[in-house]
Amino acid sequence: MDTSPERIFALLPKLKQKDKDLIIHACEFAKVAHKGQLRKSGEPYYNHVFATGLNLADIKMDVDTVSAGILHDVLEDTKVTEAELKAEFGEHIVKLVSGVTKLGKVKYSGVERHVESLRKFFIAMADDIRVVVIKLADRLHNIRTLQYVSPEKQKRIALETLEIHARLADRLGMGRLKAELEDAAFPFVYPKEYKETVEIFKEVKPISDQQLERVVSKLNDELEIFDVHIERIDSRVKHLYSLWQKLKRYGKDISKVYDIVALRILVPTVADCYQALGVIHGLYRPLPGRFKDYIAVPKANGYRSLHTTIFSGDGSILEIQIRTKEMHQEAEFGIASHLSYKEIGKNLKAEEIERMQKKIGWTKELLEWQNTENRHKDFMKNLQTDFFHNRVFIFTPKGDVIDLPEGSTPVDFAYAVHSDIGDHMAGAKINGKLANLDTKLQNRDIVEIEVKGSSSPKRKWIDLAKTNMAKRKIRQYVKEHGGLIDKFLTR
Ligand code: MN
Repeated sequence: MDTSPERIFALLPKLKQKDKDLIIHACEFAKVAHKGQLRKSGEPYYNHVFATGLNLADIKMDVDTVSAGILHDVLEDTKVTEAELKAEFGEHIVKLVSGVTKLGKVKYSGVERHVESLRKFFIAMADDIRVVVIKLADRLHNIRTLQYVSPEKQKRIALETLEIHARLADRLGMGRLKAELEDAAFPFVYPKEYKETVEIFKEVKPISDQQLERVVSKLNDELEIFDVHIERIDSRVKHLYSLWQKLKRYGKDISKVYDIVALRILVPTVADCYQALGVIHGLYRPLPGRFKDYIAVPKANGYRSLHTTIFSGDGSILEIQIRTKEMHQEAEFGIASHLSYKEIGKNLKAEEIERMQKKIGWTKELLEWQNTENRHKDFMKNLQTDFFHNRVFIFTPKGDVIDLPEGSTPVDFAYAVHSDIGDHMAGAKINGKLANLDTKLQNRDIVEIEVKGSSSPKRKWIDLAKTNMAKRKIRQYVKEHGGLIDKFLTR
């Protein structure tokens, strides 16, 4: 692996000499600190931290963040102390690195950990969102080198990446990072579906290069005639994981997915966006009901663009996305697009960080949440409404969190805690009161399951259960133990 700092500089063309010096310093320091350590792949450990820095440069993060990315493992994995790091790089870099270290090696092992790790992310995010971005860049390299770890670990890490890291990247509006995380994790989490998607994708060529070129040149001409300025026209191919999501939605009928290939037209101003749209609709017949104005009504993560789908006239259907360069930057790099190239000496001012965090309403809510007294409860509420809108979070009497789909009952809860508890459930208390087993659990309910050795699952519980796991375990029990009725008859 080429670990020359020049590779980072190439991605950040506006760097000043002192910025380059900082990055070189970070590289040299990390190289010495990790000397002798190897990755599972047999490569020097330094390759990993360099790649993390490279990922951060690729999404146009600021110099401090790139440097902290290169240093992100020195506190956790080497003998370097915070004091030493501070002496070398100053307060602001240490804060970022120790923030990453605190986020820790989050492991996904069941629901509680899941929620706990998200909570850590949120807290770090409210502090300085760049810490989270470093963690995402770190994860991106880890997931791209996942072939070197054991299969169980692969699955766990890849699943966690899909469920936590990619979602966070999406929330931060970092479209490129999200797509990269998803596509790297996809084959490990859903190998069969991955292969299937690759096959479907190979079979179907939605539009040929020649067709695409014809549309582009026609658009160029026509937009010029109408005096609409164009920065550039790109085409993008939908990334595989997102294609699979769509295929699932359309019963695997790829002919219903119109945005496998999309043209992106970048124009200077918002007015140009609408003007370009007018020209395009004058030139090609749009598919009814496919026009979306995300400029007037941005997506929840801040995404802005005009989308329309047209008949190209030669048998193909094509999505066209129209946006300004600024919108494009934001869509690709999200939060990072507000960070880069700041003339800030070495440090982002606290107000700048705050302003940027506030750009994303969700983070704003989070900051507000941080200031409220009832942190834990509100945090759970935020999670519920924002992150997992189809989940309910239920507490055990000890305070462990079990997350379940909406509509779950104490039966689901009992089996989610442990199958023995499900198999011997005699009753349930919700928030201290006895409750029927068909009660739908509400977010933040505290559920206590009464267990008796002599109790056993009833067949009708299958209908009360929402989760497949509970249904399967009840069936299994009934099958193994002959079922209650059978038992009664043979007694
Ligand atoms: Mn790392």
